[in-house]
Amino acid sequence: MLSDSLLALGFALTAYTAAKLYSDLHELPRLKVQPDPIPRSMHWLNVRSAVPESDWIKIKKVMMGNTFIKTPKCQCCGAAGPLECHEVWSFTWPRTQSLTGLKLLCHLCHMIHHIGFAMHKGEGEEVIRHFMKVNGIDRKTADRYIKQSFSKARQLDRFSPITMSKQHRLDLTYLNDKRFKLPRTFTTDERKSCNPKSKA
Ligand SMILES: [Zn+2]
Repeated sequence: MLSDSLLALGFALTAYTAAKLYSDLHELPRLKVQPDPIPRSMHWLNVRSAVPESDWIKIKKVMMGNTFIKTPKCQCCGAAGPLECHEVWSFTWPRTQSLTGLKLLCHLCHMIHHIGFAMHKGEGEEVIRHFMKVNGIDRKTADRYIKQSFSKARQLDRFSPITMSKQHRLDLTYLNDKRFKLPRTFTTDERKSCNPKSKA
């Protein structure tokens, strides 16, 4: 009986810790643009790797208003193009990464969201300076946001005893919006559709 109670208590504590992990995301006040946590297990599992190149171009055209605007502007800092299409994600319990929006951003604003990748490419310092300028923050504050993003990404990557996995489901149902006119219906579990080698 005692062992059953301890097991139940352990299970409840594990569930509480895991649920708290999700509720703690973005504990610092949300800025205009900031680094977003993407768990390593989800790297390159995204819209670009889930749809053919022709559909990705179609999505970007829709984001530009179904036509190529002569002077497109970054939706964050207002810089003139060229622009990149940023995928906005949310993480919900239990372990689902959902596409919740798309944004047209200049390269530097886009890389703020993916600061780890920017650092990997040697663009880190330039992107951090842009991060500070766009949000009007100092270096110490910028570093706090970057540290938080890396910390949350690591937390999201932990093995879950609830789902018995490190993996998240990939929900791309946002793409079912009629304005995209894509040839198939997307589900809440699109991991199998992704080809990480097609990363853009
Ligand atoms: Zn920008």
